[in-house]
Amino acid sequence: MERKVFGLGDIVLMKKPHPCGTNEMEIIRMGMDIRIKCTGCQHSVLIPRAKFEKNLKKVLHSAASEAED
Ligand SMILES: [Zn+2]
Repeated sequence: MERKVFGLGDIVLMKKPHPCGTNEMEIIRMGMDIRIKCTGCQHSVLIPRAKFEKNLKKVLHSAASEAED
């Protein structure tokens, strides 16, 4: 099973697009809840971690592991 690793500052691709049509989000706060900001319209939303992980398709750009890919 693939483990999803994500961190602060990462750009992630979500399964469900934002109402503006963009499904790329930036993680701007980590915790029990995750705050993500839409890269299209700049709106941010706070969602429970479990819901975030369920809706996360993949990490497009990892802020922490620049060297890895
Ligand atoms: Zn948006």
